Amino acid sequence: MDLNKKNKILRYLDQHFPNVGCELWYRKDYELLIAVVLSAQTTDQSVNRVTPILFKTFPRLEDLAHAPLQSIEKIIQSIGLFRTKAKHIKALSNILIKEFNGKVPSDKSVLTLLPGVGVKTANVIRAEIFNIPEIAVDTHVYRLAWRLGISKKNDSVSVTEKKLRKAFPENRYIKLHHQLIHFGRYACHAKKPQCQGCALQSICKEPHKNLEKPIINRS
Ligand code: SF4
Repeated sequence: MDLNKKNKILRYLDQHFPNVGCELWYRKDYELLIAVVLSAQTTDQSVNRVTPILFKTFPRLEDLAHAPLQSIEKIIQSIGLFRTKAKHIKALSNILIKEFNGKVPSDKSVLTLLPGVGVKTANVIRAEIFNIPEIAVDTHVYRLAWRLGISKKNDSVSVTEKKLRKAFPENRYIKLHHQLIHFGRYACHAKKPQCQGCALQSICKEPHKNLEKPIINRS
C-alpha cells in the first residue's frame, strides 16, 4: 500500500474518531484483564453490564480467588461461555496473587500463559495498562484491515497484525487500534456498512452499493 493511501486512512480516522479509547469499564489493572477475558466473543456493552456487579460483590483480587465458582457464574451468566470464563477468572486471580504478587504482568509470553489470555488479550493489556505499542486484532480490526487493503481476506490474525504493524508508524499503533474498532463498531459494520459519504471508498475492497444511511461521526 502506498504512502498516500495510508495517510488518507489515518486522516479519515483522525477526523471521525479523534479521541477514542477502551470502552470496557474498569478501575484496576486486574479488572481490565478480567474484562478483556470476558469480552471474548461478546460485546463490550454486555461485559460492562456484569463487571460492576462482579467487582462490587468481590472487591479484591483475593475475594475473586476465593469466590465460589457458582457465585461468579451467576453474576456473569448473561455472557457467552460464562462457565469457562468463570473458571478462568478464578484461576487467573489465584495465579496473579501467588505468582505475581497481585500485579498484572506486562511480558507478552507470560500474559499468554494465563488462563483465557491469548495474543489479542495480551496486546490489549500491554497497550492499555503499560502503554506498549501494540495492535490487538479483534473482529473489527481484522475486517477493516482487509477492506482497506492492508491485509488479505484470508490472512491469519497474526499475519494481519504483522501487516498492520508494517504499514503504520509504531507511535500510531494504540490510537489506530481504537480508531479501527470504533469505525468497525459504529460505521463500517460487517453486514451493512454505512458507506455513503465514506471517503475511503476509493481504497476499500468491499464498498457496498445499495446504501441508505450517511456515515455517522461518533467522535
Ligand atoms: Fe467500510 Fe463502506 Fe467505507 Fe468500505 S466504503 S471502508 S465498507 S464504510
